[in-house]
Amino acid sequence: MMDAKSSQKAFLEQLVAHRLLIPSGVPGLFGRGRLFEEVIERFNRLLTDVAADDGAEVVQFPPLVNRKHYEKSGFLKSFPHLAGSVFSFYGDQGEYMELLSCLEKGEDWSRLQHMTEVMLTAAACYPIYPMASGTLPEGGRLFDVYSYCFRHEPSDDPARMQVFRMREFVHLGTPETSVAFRNRWLERGSDLLKALAVPISADVASDPFFGRGGKMLASNQREQRLKFELRTPITSTEEPTAVMSFNYHQDHFGSLFDIRRASGEIAHTACFGAGMERVALSLFKTHGFVPAAWPASVRTKLCL
Ligand code: ATP
Ligand code: ZN
Repeated sequence: MMDAKSSQKAFLEQLVAHRLLIPSGVPGLFGRGRLFEEVIERFNRLLTDVAADDGAEVVQFPPLVNRKHYEKSGFLKSFPHLAGSVFSFYGDQGEYMELLSCLEKGEDWSRLQHMTEVMLTAAACYPIYPMASGTLPEGGRLFDVYSYCFRHEPSDDPARMQVFRMREFVHLGTPETSVAFRNRWLERGSDLLKALAVPISADVASDPFFGRGGKMLASNQREQRLKFELRTPITSTEEPTAVMSFNYHQDHFGSLFDIRRASGEIAHTACFGAGMERVALSLFKTHGFVPAAWPASVRTKLCL
């Protein structure tokens, strides 16, 4: 049996050899080959089909968010280790000369950089909450978002990237409608992955909260069954990888961004997120590196 590290390395080598991923020299940052993209596109279309009758409002954001919103969202408080900030050069001619000199000597030039007003988005749903600030219509709101996301978690595991895409559906409403939404997607997600013959297990999960207090937060989250994941073995059978997440945030975002129900109460929210690269990787892992040789039922389902 291969250990997790060697099996990650072997899987990545195969992906690269088949031109599915293109390494950049930085762990977790890859280019994508045509077939890798095609699989993601087809799976994305399946999600659109599944949600066709829901009437979600499609919105598209760049992979950057307003830093003020990011600070307010609580992400830095809970996950400072994953955050990505955008810095740039604000200097004058003197500082420019210093920068050139640092570059020439191969010295650290970070002191010549200062924070900008934007951050790299960590989840596709983050821009939704500030946008939805105010009063929701009767029945709440439903959004459909798709974005590249950044998380500073460099790893040799091809399934743990620093930059990856998330397709999310986000519901804003009452506690009951949020939980119902979350459960509906849990069922839809399982059905979809089963139809693609990807072996899955569903489980309660927690987020990787930072620090000493983080353990408490994670165990509360589990106890209250706020987060579920669908997992599949990609580079380890003992520790399968989460390909989809189903989160009930209670009134977290509603309170932070003053999102209210028609009744005036603070809204509750939930999101479903599919990790698109992980879904593609799970298909390559399960069915092999050549989509043309995948089982007919899987190819038909994906219209490949
Ligand atoms: P993990 O427990 O593996 O760190 P997570 O719980 O942090 O994942 P979420 O925050 O719920 O993940 O993100 C939603 C989805 O985005 C996940 O279900 C997963 O499919 C995908 N995802 C999360 N982190 C990564 C990553 N580093 N690389 C690729 N996909 C990811
Ligand atoms: Zn989300």
